[in-house]
Amino acid sequence: MTAHFPFDNSYARLPARFFTRQDPVPVEAPGLIAVNEALAGRLGLTLPDDPAETAAIFAGNRVPAGAEPIAQVYAGHQFGGWSPQLGDGRAILLGEVVAPDGARFDIQLKGSGRTPYSRMGDGRAWLGPVLREYIVSEAMAALGIPTTRALAAVTTGEVVLREGRMPGAVFARVAASHIRVGTFQFFASRQDTEALQALADHAIARHYPDAEGPAGLLDAVIAAQADLVARWMGVGFIHGVMNTDNMTVSGETIDYGPCAFLDAYHPQMVFSSIDHYGRYAYGNQPQIAVWNIAQLATALLPLMPDRDAAIEAFTAAVNGFAERFDDAWHRVLAAKLGLAEIREGDAALAFDLLERMAKGEADFTNTFRALSGAEPEHAAAEFSKPGPFEEWLEKWRARLASEGRDEATRIAAMQAANPALIARNHRVEEAIAAAVAGDLAPFHRLTEALSRPFDPNPADLDLATPPRPEERVTQTFCGT
Ligand code: AMP
Ligand code: MG
Repeated sequence: MTAHFPFDNSYARLPARFFTRQDPVPVEAPGLIAVNEALAGRLGLTLPDDPAETAAIFAGNRVPAGAEPIAQVYAGHQFGGWSPQLGDGRAILLGEVVAPDGARFDIQLKGSGRTPYSRMGDGRAWLGPVLREYIVSEAMAALGIPTTRALAAVTTGEVVLREGRMPGAVFARVAASHIRVGTFQFFASRQDTEALQALADHAIARHYPDAEGPAGLLDAVIAAQADLVARWMGVGFIHGVMNTDNMTVSGETIDYGPCAFLDAYHPQMVFSSIDHYGRYAYGNQPQIAVWNIAQLATALLPLMPDRDAAIEAFTAAVNGFAERFDDAWHRVLAAKLGLAEIREGDAALAFDLLERMAKGEADFTNTFRALSGAEPEHAAAEFSKPGPFEEWLEKWRARLASEGRDEATRIAAMQAANPALIARNHRVEEAIAAAVAGDLAPFHRLTEALSRPFDPNPADLDLATPPRPEERVTQTFCGT
């Protein structure tokens, strides 16, 4: 069969100053690492029978019919500092496909060569970040967290210079869209109100058709991001680089650079090698989301007829983020504790556990999973000292008893809320190291295992083990 992608490229129909038309730069020798067949099916793609042809498409060597490759322009605050022009420096949007159910998705190639927005970069990616994004974004999807997806990964047969000579690769990413807070900032900072209006209209039509105007859009993004960050925190996820150019308007997680999952719980945990002040630490994520949302609100202001009234309304909306987040976070925590309803004192009960976990260096995932079993007292083994946990356990048991949920229901509910498997950093690193040495088996095994985080195959339970001290990953790096 020949390839067929049901393209309909609405972003490429926006004004010319939204992007630069740019074909991907062909690579020397495309080699297929993985294709996400299930996702391809969901999108309504027909892939070639010949894997070499599929590799050529996802390497950017063969542009499928109907694609209109563009590099999108945007700006952003990176670690709080303003960058007036960023953009796809190592990515190309092939186009948008409309799936059989009418849903629209971007297909982007990352690592596809230089563009006008590459600045000093080479436009390429190496195998490590490509596999990391593949593994972690698919793990997040399986955890039920809104995210961009992994459609394919290919090797290029080329060398990419980073800390050393690394094997080159290209990642094919699927997203509801790649519209970022930074896309709005780009046009706002240039006082290009016409473009700003076109972007707002496009984003509303695409993601929030019920939203009324820029105020409705802001509100919808606040709701989506509050929910998203609460879900991240519920699985111990640290995004690591929450710059405004890495925050989508759709509410999907994007940009798996220096991201990591917590092993032992600590609210100030940071992995990113470049996050020297802990700006994007686990527990700071809600505050950073508010900061980013405030930048979106500022960017949308020029679209409002009455500026003073809009400042007042937008300030109230941005300040409302905290309450939205707290609601979402308390719901996540209640589900993690097996509570059918949320009552006064439940959040305090959850925070009390988290505090004891921090002091007891308890593994985040395994503590909650152990609590989800028939013998929750076994969670004590996760703590350096069992005493403080056992005190808390009595309080939790009393709270559970007051609800009278039967034990089997509690266990089923908790096992559906508390994963056994997350993409542990040392396993991701292990898979990357093996792949660089030519062995893709650990990558495939990890990807497959993480597709069933709540109901793992018993043979995969070794992947639930936290790192031994010598296996611990203390730093993660941006995917450049
Ligand atoms: P990120 O840190 O991945 O969010 O990227 C920030 C900005 O740097 C974006 O504009 C990227 O397109 C650009 N960039 C990152 N890596 C490269 C690269 N290897 N070549 C060109 N541009 C890059
Ligand atoms: Mg980025």
